[in-house]
Amino acid sequence: MTELLYLDDSYLAAFDAIVTAVEPDGVVLLDRSAFYPTGGGQPHDLGALVAGSQRLPVLNVTKRGADTLHQIDPACGLPQVGAPIRGEIDWERRYTLMRMHSALHVLCGVVFREFGALVTGGNMGVDKARMDFELEDLSAERVAHIEAVANAVIASGRPIRWRSLPRDEAFQIPDLIRTKINLLPAHITEVRVVEIEGLDLQADGGTHVHNTREIGGLQVVGTRSKGRINKRLEIALTPAQGSVAEGDV
Ligand SMILES: [Zn+2]
Repeated sequence: MTELLYLDDSYLAAFDAIVTAVEPDGVVLLDRSAFYPTGGGQPHDLGALVAGSQRLPVLNVTKRGADTLHQIDPACGLPQVGAPIRGEIDWERRYTLMRMHSALHVLCGVVFREFGALVTGGNMGVDKARMDFELEDLSAERVAHIEAVANAVIASGRPIRWRSLPRDEAFQIPDLIRTKINLLPAHITEVRVVEIEGLDLQADGGTHVHNTREIGGLQVVGTRSKGRINKRLEIALTPAQGSVAEGDV
C-alpha cells in the first residue's frame, strides 16, 4: 500500500520514500509517493526517482489496488528494494494540471448554477481540457456568458479546500449527490471532497490549487454537440486577467 502524499499536500514537488518492491519490467513501488497516478480524468505526473547518483526518469504512473506504480525504463537500471529514494515531480506539468483541474471544477459549478446542467464526462490534458454537460442549448451567447462568469469567479480569489469525510456524512451533502457519489463502491468508507467556496463541492481524488486566482483564467476554445442534451465545452488556461506586467509596478 502506498501512502498518497498528494491527497493532503498537492504542492509537494519532492519527497523521500523507501523502495518496497521492484518488478523486472521497471515498475517501482514506494511506501509513500507524491506522484499522481492517472485517474479521475487527471493524467499522471512525470518526474524522476533519485537513488544516490542514479537518476531514473518516471515515464508513467498508474494505480493497482492501493499501490502506486512508478514506471521507469529498466535499461536505466533498477533501484534496490529497501533503498531510500527521492521522488521529484515535474512541477511545471503538475502545477498546470492542478490549475486545469480546478478550472474544470469552476466550470462545473458555473454551468450548474447558471443552467442547472449536470456533468456527463470530462478529461484533461496539459494544453486543454473538456467537459460534457447535460445541456440542450449551447449558443455562442451562452458560451460567452459561461466564460465571463467563470473568469469572474476565478478572479474573485475563492479558496479551494479538500478534506476526507466519513461516507455517511458525505451522503448528507446535497451538492455531492449531483456528482453521482452514489456510484462509489460500498467498501469505500471515507470520501474525499474538494470544495470551491460558495460554488462547487465534489467527491474528488485529484490535485488542486489553493485559490481560484492561481488558475489565472480560462478560455472556451471549442464546443461540440455530442447529442440533443449533451454538449461539450473545451477549455484552455490563460494567464491571470488584468495582471500587472513586470516593470509596471
Ligand atoms: Zn475533479
